[in-house]
Amino acid sequence: MQIIDGKKISQEIKDELKEKVERLKQQGKEPSLAVIQVGSDPASSVYVGNKKKACAYCGIRSLAYELPEETTEQELVALIETLNTDDTVNGILVQLPLPKQINEDKIIRAISPQKDVDGFHPENVGKLVIGEKGFVSCTPAGIIQLLKRSGVDIAGKRCVVIGRSNIVGKPMAILMLRENATVTVAHSRTQDLKAVCKEADILIVAIGKPKFITADYIKEGAVVIDVGIHRNENKKLCGDIDYEDVAKHTSFITPVPGGVGPMTIAMLMNNCVEAVEM
Ligand code: NAD
Repeated sequence: MQIIDGKKISQEIKDELKEKVERLKQQGKEPSLAVIQVGSDPASSVYVGNKKKACAYCGIRSLAYELPEETTEQELVALIETLNTDDTVNGILVQLPLPKQINEDKIIRAISPQKDVDGFHPENVGKLVIGEKGFVSCTPAGIIQLLKRSGVDIAGKRCVVIGRSNIVGKPMAILMLRENATVTVAHSRTQDLKAVCKEADILIVAIGKPKFITADYIKEGAVVIDVGIHRNENKKLCGDIDYEDVAKHTSFITPVPGGVGPMTIAMLMNNCVEAVEM
């Protein structure tokens, strides 16, 4: 069994990007990311802080917009429209979730698809589905990097993705299809989930339920990727997979923390650099 080290792989990616950014700057191109946070949700503040830190590390200029909780949808759209037309800004990220007076779908659509580094705009989602170049949602894109950089063969393998959310499950399934896996998407209405999972050479779990997946879901020697993040009673982080129970039956597994988590920000940085190159 091999543990896939997401911390190490994300660091490699950030170091490669740092060099790329230096080269771009020599050509007079400076990548920049505008990060908008509405309200002061503590978890969002941590995520935003980590994104700014990663930008600083890679040499990407970050602009922070901290708007009050009572910001209206019109005010937020107006800011996005200003940033859409600002040539010095390559990427725009609105930290989700947003306060309830603001419609998230409207905000996602307000961001120019050319600056949508989260890859949530319907135009980018459509491009992903038909195989055109565009921004890809960061967590699933990071998982592809984890698999490739660990030497896992994807083509022709049976892959099961559990979860069908717009930001993880669905784009994950499309990316695995693009890599020529035979893909099954399982979800809350799937019958006999254990039997479906037991067929998987590569099992990717994004359910949002702590330690849900135990050894009896695993085909011996499978590659297992855990997207879930939870904090247990003792404040320790765990994933959707019961790691202790499952790990010994796998050929490769991602831990929580230190697996998928760090890849999301690394791929956001990657998208910011691509935004300049596009
Ligand atoms: P979500 O709640 O939007 O989706 C969960 C999916 O799981 C749904 O599609 C649902 O059909 C499926 N599901 C729920 N119960 C099920 C069951 N009993 N059997 C089979 N399928 C079931 O969640 P999400 O946004 O996709 O996130 C999933 C998990 O990944 C969460 O724990 C989240 O915190 C984590 N996450 C981590 C990162 C990261 O960077 N590591 C990024 C995004 C999400």
